[in-house]
Formats: sequence, C-alpha cells, structure tokens
Amino acid sequence: MDTFTTTVGSTMKWIVTELARARVGSQWLTDTERDHALRGEAEALLLWVTGWSSARLVSSLGEELAQPLVSQLEEVVAQRCQGMPLQYVTGQAAFYGRLFAVRPGCLIPRPESEILADLAVDWISRHRPRAIVADVGTGSGILAVTVQLECPQTSVYAIDLSEDALAIARDNAERLGTLNLHWVHDDGLRWLRAAQAGADAGQGAGRDATAGITGTTGKINVIVSNPPYIPSADVEQLDEEVRLYEPILALDGGEDGLDLYRGFSQLGDTVFAHGPAALFLEVGAGQAQDVLRLFTQGQIETVNLWPRWHFAVQADLRGLGRIVW
Ligand code: GLN
Repeated sequence: MDTFTTTVGSTMKWIVTELARARVGSQWLTDTERDHALRGEAEALLLWVTGWSSARLVSSLGEELAQPLVSQLEEVVAQRCQGMPLQYVTGQAAFYGRLFAVRPGCLIPRPESEILADLAVDWISRHRPRAIVADVGTGSGILAVTVQLECPQTSVYAIDLSEDALAIARDNAERLGTLNLHWVHDDGLRWLRAAQAGADAGQGAGRDATAGITGTTGKINVIVSNPPYIPSADVEQLDEEVRLYEPILALDGGEDGLDLYRGFSQLGDTVFAHGPAALFLEVGAGQAQDVLRLFTQGQIETVNLWPRWHFAVQADLRGLGRIVW
C-alpha cells in the first residue's frame, strides 16, 4: 500500500478495491449487493486487525493507521484475496449472538442454522428443559453450545467424526462457558444406534458415553443436526471458497445428498427415551419435501418407525424449507 494512503478511511477504500479486483465473494451477487458485502468485509478486516469497536472505527476514519497494523492488514487482505473465507481469515464467526472460533477443520456457521437453534431452544424450554440432547456432526459446536447455554439444564452430547472439528468445538465450549457438554468422537448414527441397542437390550445405557446419564434408559430426548447434504456430484460445482476451504466431510451427503437423513429416519423413534422427544434436521435448499417423505412414508407402510410423530417444515425468510422437525 502507498504510504500516503494510510488513513483509516483510505485504507478501508483500498481494501474494498483489492477485494473487488480479486473478485472475492459469491458470483451470485448483484453489483450493489457485492459492493455492500465488500464494504462489510473491509470493515470486518479492519476491526479484526485493530481490535476496535465499530464506533471507534467510524470516529477514526481521518486518523493515520500505525504501520504494524498496515502490514498486518496487507497480510489478511492477501489471504482473503486468495479466496480464503473471511471467517477463516479472522478465525471467528457469529452465531446466535455469540462469537465462535472457526478454522478450516470445521464448517463455517450459516445463518439458516439459527432457525434450527431457535426451534430447538423453544421446544426444549417448553417441553423438556432437562433434555439429553445429541448434536450429530457438531463441527464448530454452534448447535451444541447454543442449546446448552440457552437451556442450561440440558445435557448435550456433541458428536463428530472429525477430531479436528471436536477440538474446535471444545475450544468454543470452554471459552463460552458451557457446563454440561460431552464429547463423542464417532459416527453420530452409529453412536445413536449403539445407545438404542444397549437400552433395548435392557443393559441400561449400554457401554457407550450415555451410560449413567439418564439414569434409566441411556437414550436421548432430542436430536439436532445440520448434516452434510450436498449430493456428491455437486460438490465440485460449489463456490471455490467453499470447495477449497471447508471440510468435504461436512458437505458431502452421498449420491443424492440424503444419506444422513435416510440414516436418521431408519433409526425410528425408539432411539429416544420415553416421554417428550424431538428431532431437528437442517436440510439443503429444495430437500425439505424429500426429507419429510423419508419420515412420513414409513408411517403409512407396514412397519411404522415413527408412530404418533408429527413432522413439520420450517422455512427461512425467503420461504425456502430449511428445517425438518
Ligand atoms: N453443526 C455444525 C454447523 O451447523 C457443523 C455442520 C456440518 O459440519 N455439517 O455448522
């Protein structure tokens, strides 16, 4: 950066120009949206490097920016220009009013997941405040941590196949002061089946991590999950920022993208302990009806795995079905 451009305000402009030149951001945005997005990113990068509040930033636009901060900014702007998602560059992402640490070993939280968190928190508070909850594919831990903090009497199992993701989730849980979280390094469906089988065989909780938690069956009351749901063949078509940086394990949902939902639907409701129970699954755009069918079709076939269950779809603000529950 030229030395005469180092006021805060001109630095901001410089960042926007660099990001625009590198064609950062989704190809799907209109020019106005992109302009808005890039300004937001420039501000986020400035705030991140300076450690200032937004108010301080606004009142400092005419001030000179110290050289070490300028060098640091050049570094993070270069990373962003290479396509690394903003949240990985700054190492943080906002979710449900809290900041979570993220890095390339976990998926970046998406706003849609806040709808899931809202539904789950509301249901648990009303129907089962002391619920034992399983978060299948916890990633950065956003769902597990949010549910545990919003519903402090719950006991939450955060499950992930990726050790890397679990380490990130654990950092988040500690930093945000979560008290009753348990970590499970496993395939979530396998883990649920084991808990189910152990309890059905009258072994109390079986040998796995739910042992001794419910005191009775070893089963759980609530499942939350934002499983991988991109059809394998579509993974290659994703925005580069997603494809090159976010973990494939968190994205690839098998041939039609529905592998995990099929797995959940085949568990049947005996995966839950007696009494009020609920399941909240995030789905990809356009998948809600297919996923709904996986659960409700069983209800009219000979073996009804979900007797007396009601399933519903919650749409996002654009009207797209996003959560099947
Ligand atoms: N539960 C995490 C999230 O919602 C991770 C989801 C995933 O890796 N598919 O961001």
